Amino acid sequence: MVRVRRLIKVRGLVQGVGFRPFIYRLANIHSLSGWVNNNLEGVLIDIEGDCREIGSFLAKISSAPPLAKIEELEIKELPLKGYGDFRIKESLLDSTNFTLISPDIATCPECKEEMNNINNHRYHYPFINCTNCGPRYSIIESLPYDRSVTTMKNFTMCEECRREYEEPGDRRFHAQPNACPECGPELWLTDYRGKKISEENPLKQATKLLKRGKILAIKGLAGFHLACDAGNQDTIKKLRNRKRRPVKPFALMMKDIATVKEFCYLSTEEKEILTGRRKPIVLLKRKSGIPNNQLLAGISVDNNYLAVMLPYTPLHELLFNGLESKQGEKEITVLVMTSANTSGLPLEYTNQGAVTRLERIADYFILHNREIKIPIDDSISRIILGKEQLIRGARGYIPLAIRFNGLKETLACGSHFKNTIALAKGDYIFLSQHLGDLSNLESYQNYKKVIGHLEEIYQLNPQIIAYDFHPGYLSSRFAETRQGKRIKVQHHHAHIVSCMVDNQLNKQVIGLAFDGTGLGIDGNLWGGEFLICSYAKFTRVGQLNYLKMPGGEAAVKEPWRMAVSYLYHSYGEQLLLFNKLIAVDQGEIKKIIRLIKADLNSPQTSSMGRLFDAVAALIGLTNFISYQAQAAIKLESIASRKARGLYSYQIEDNDGYFVVSTIPLIKEIVEDLNSGIPIKVIAGRFHNTIIGFSVAICELIRDNYGIETVTLSGGVFQNEIILKGIYQQLMLKGFEVYLHCRIPCNDGGLSVGQIVIANYQEGV
Ligand code: ZN
Ligand code: ZN
Ligand code: FE
Repeated sequence: MVRVRRLIKVRGLVQGVGFRPFIYRLANIHSLSGWVNNNLEGVLIDIEGDCREIGSFLAKISSAPPLAKIEELEIKELPLKGYGDFRIKESLLDSTNFTLISPDIATCPECKEEMNNINNHRYHYPFINCTNCGPRYSIIESLPYDRSVTTMKNFTMCEECRREYEEPGDRRFHAQPNACPECGPELWLTDYRGKKISEENPLKQATKLLKRGKILAIKGLAGFHLACDAGNQDTIKKLRNRKRRPVKPFALMMKDIATVKEFCYLSTEEKEILTGRRKPIVLLKRKSGIPNNQLLAGISVDNNYLAVMLPYTPLHELLFNGLESKQGEKEITVLVMTSANTSGLPLEYTNQGAVTRLERIADYFILHNREIKIPIDDSISRIILGKEQLIRGARGYIPLAIRFNGLKETLACGSHFKNTIALAKGDYIFLSQHLGDLSNLESYQNYKKVIGHLEEIYQLNPQIIAYDFHPGYLSSRFAETRQGKRIKVQHHHAHIVSCMVDNQLNKQVIGLAFDGTGLGIDGNLWGGEFLICSYAKFTRVGQLNYLKMPGGEAAVKEPWRMAVSYLYHSYGEQLLLFNKLIAVDQGEIKKIIRLIKADLNSPQTSSMGRLFDAVAALIGLTNFISYQAQAAIKLESIASRKARGLYSYQIEDNDGYFVVSTIPLIKEIVEDLNSGIPIKVIAGRFHNTIIGFSVAICELIRDNYGIETVTLSGGVFQNEIILKGIYQQLMLKGFEVYLHCRIPCNDGGLSVGQIVIANYQEGV
C-alpha cells in the first residue's frame, strides 16, 4: 500500500447540491482521510490514503449528485500530513474568487413521499426539503452558501433536524433550509386585509375557499401567486377585472401529468421538462374540440397554447391533495397560478407588500414566515424542433452561469422590455432572472436592488458598463449613473451575439434580428434586420423597408395605425378607397394620414413586429392591444398551416444592401380580402411570405459575402411558424442555422449580448 495525499479543487455548480456529503461518503468507502469544505471558488478536498483507492475515488467524483455540475477539476500532490479521519470542515471565507449558485429546486420524490406518509414527523409539512430539493437562490444573502447567510438563519434547528443536518449519511446532511414542524417556518391564513384567521389547518381551509370560487394570494418559493379555480368562469372574470388584465393568458398549475394530457398534447420532451427538477411553465399546444376545453375558455384567448406547470413546492402538493373530491364535492385539478402583482408592478414577495398592494385583488392570503430574499418569477419554456428553448429565465434556471473565457468585470444593463441584467467576471457570464418591463418606479427599484444583490453575492465591482443605444430606456439612464467605462451596444447586434453565445459560435454570421423595436445607429427604429455580425462588430446588409410609425408608441398599442401606414405606403391617398378594411372611423384614418404626411411624431421603422401588427389589423383581428405582441400572437394562432403559396415581395439590391419592399405583399393581401379569401388562409400566406423573403435574402448575402452560418434572434422568433419555416428552409438550402436555447431570443437575452460585445470592443 502506497499512501499519498492530494488536494483537489472542484469548480462548477457544487454548493448547496449535496456535493460535500457525497464526497464524505465516497471518502469513507475508500477509507480515505482528510477533509472537504466549501470556499468561494467551489469545493476543496484534501485527501490522504492508499494510492489506488484515491484513484478510484477520483474516478467516481464525476458521478456526482444529480444537481451538481462539475466544470473544472484541479489535482495537486502534497506531502503527507497524517490525517486520522475524514471530515466536512466549516466554510472558509478566504478567497476573492466566487462560486456558482444553485437555482431553487422543485420538491424531490423522496420528500414528497415523506410528506404523504402519516407516520413521518414531517407529514403534511409544507416546508419539507432536503439536500436535493428546496429553496436556494431565492433565500441566499451572500456566499459561500451556508444556513447563516440565508433567510433560514432566523430558525434554530431542533435536535432531530440538527442530527440530520450533521449526520453525513443522512439525506438532509448540510441541507441548509432543513426544517420540520417543530422548528421550521409555518403557514397561516388571513383575510384580504392581512388579518389572521385562526385555523387549525390553514391549507384545508384554503382548499375550501378555492372550491367556493375565491381568489387566494399564496406565498410560494420565490414570490406570490394569485390562485383560483381555472374552471370557474365567474372567478376568472373577477380576477381579470381586478387585475386589469382583459385577455392576456394566465399560467395554470395542473395536478398531475394525467390532467395535463386531458387538455394538451404532450411530447416526451415536454413531459420531461414538466416533471423535471426545475418545473418551469411549459407552453403546450392545447387540444381542440374536446368538451373539457370549454372549462378553460377564459384562460387563454386567441392562443393555441396553454402555459402549464406542475406543483413544485410541498405547499402546492398539499393544495391539490385538499382539492380532491370528497363526498361528491367537485374536484379541482387545474388552478390559475399567475404571478401576484398589480398591473405592471414587480412580483410581490414580502408579506407586508403583498397584503398592502393586493388587497383589492385577493380575497384571502396564505402567508408564511420563511423570508424570500429576492423575488423570482416562474420560468417559461417550450420545446421547439425537439429542443428546449427558454422564453423567460427565472425560477429553477437562474442564476444562469454561462461559460465564456476571459471577460473583464462587466455589468450589462439590459433592455427596456423583459429586462434582465448580466454580470461577468473571468470565465463566466451570470444572467439574472427576468425583471420585467422597466416602465415604472417600482420595477426600476427592483432592478437596482437585483443588480446590487448580485454584485454583492458575486463580489463584483464592474468597471465596464454595457447598455442599450436607446437613451430613453431606464436601464440606459441607470448606466449613466454608474462609474466606469460605459459602452453603448446596438440592440440587434446584442440580440445576434446573445444567440452566438448560446451556441458557442465565434465567427462571422448572418444574423436575422426580427423584433418589435430597437434603436438603430441611424436614429430609426429597427426590427426587421439582416446583419453580418461578429462579437465586436456588425454591418447591416438588409432590412424591411422603412415606413412611418404614426404617433410613435401609440402605434404599438394601436395596430390599426400601422395598417393605415402600410396602406398609405402602398397606395398613397388612394387608401381611402379601402377604408372599410379597417374598422375605424374615416376621420381617424385621415388624422393618421396627416400625421404621416406632416412627419409629426412619426418615426421611421423597419420593425417586423409592426408589420405583423399591421396585417393583424388589416384582416380585422384586432385594432387595439392590451399586452405585448398580442396582435402577432393572434395572427399566428389563426394562420392556416396548410395555406399554400405566398404573396409577392420585391428585394431591392443596392450594391449588396437588400431592402424588402412590402408594397406587393400588402396589395395582394388587400386583393385576397376583397375576393373573400378566408383570413386564416391570408394569415398563412403572410407567414409563408416572411419565410420566403428571409430565406431569399440569406441566399443573396451568401452569394455576396460568402457567409453561410445563420443565427435567428429577436422576439418575433417566438412565433413557431416563422422560426420553424425559416430554419427548415435554410437547412434545405445548405445553411448552418442556429437558434436560441438557454438564453431567451427576446429582449431577456440582450444583456448577455451586451456583455460580450462590450468586452470585445474593449479588446479582450
Ligand atoms: Zn427533497
Ligand atoms: Zn426540526
Ligand atoms: Fe428586441
